[in-house]
Amino acid sequence: MTVDNIAGEAVARVRERVTVSEVGPRDGLQIERAMVTTDDKVQLIEALADAGLTRIEAGAFVNPKVVPQMADSREVLARVRRRPNLRFGAFVPNVKGAELAIAAGAKDLKAGIAASDSFNELNVRMSTEAGVAVMANINAVAKAADDVQILGVVATAFGCPYEGPVSRDRIYRLFGQLVKFGCPVIYLADTTGMAIPHQISELVDDLRRRWPAQAIGLHLHNTRGLGLANALTGLQAGVRDFESSIGGLGGCPFAPRAVGNISTEDFVHMASGMGFDCRLDLDRLIHAAIIAQDMLGRTLPGMVMKAGPASVRFEKGEPSVKLD
Ligand code: ZN
Repeated sequence: MTVDNIAGEAVARVRERVTVSEVGPRDGLQIERAMVTTDDKVQLIEALADAGLTRIEAGAFVNPKVVPQMADSREVLARVRRRPNLRFGAFVPNVKGAELAIAAGAKDLKAGIAASDSFNELNVRMSTEAGVAVMANINAVAKAADDVQILGVVATAFGCPYEGPVSRDRIYRLFGQLVKFGCPVIYLADTTGMAIPHQISELVDDLRRRWPAQAIGLHLHNTRGLGLANALTGLQAGVRDFESSIGGLGGCPFAPRAVGNISTEDFVHMASGMGFDCRLDLDRLIHAAIIAQDMLGRTLPGMVMKAGPASVRFEKGEPSVKLD
């Protein structure tokens, strides 16, 4: 089968499906200092859905005193339009959060557990082991609800800013527990952008050897400029589930010098250009990134939103990227 990639070149292979999940409205906005209005969040989520995203993390059911940006998650979920094949997700740290999220209409619950005790203590005020016990309770709540699933996250999988490298044994233990919970995808999160590309493929290969049937995803931050390089290594290692943020929004209130996730439109530009089928409209993603940028009133780190896709042709003499 011959298909065209994003640059219009023929790619002689069947396009493999890559699933992109948008986490900007949660992982992205939670760290913003200026409050983002509910109206703005709803407008951004609708623009993301218009671009074809089928998985959007719309909010978090956490203590509003700790993360005030997420205080209106229930209202956001009440107002966003339901569409066929679109699942809204929410971050939930405990059973109460899970119950609130389900009542608000979230279908994908995410309870990240850090493989590093120090990071987990700061993030959710409990050890990794205690986090697994809470997750078991969240899982029971999810299983009892209609069409609700939990997504696993191994946070700090590629290093902890407080402890440094995280031992494989700790990762195996946490990953193995998440497999038992029946998570459809378990994301390896480079929470503070410490991963170097070869570490991505080594860990993915290693986990796949032990748990061949488990889908592994990547949640990458671009803290040290290696986000897309790490994503590329993941694609080459066979990962087909990625989380990203529109415009490269993001960070983490508990991660020192946090920088945003890989940008959704930059990742889609790369993956589609390689011939992968992301089933997303790149122009509409760029439009959503510009909405996010206007909403926040500052330049976002995404690159393709500024330069345009590589397939765009310019008049001679016209600068292809605005040089200001
Ligand atoms: Zn993150």
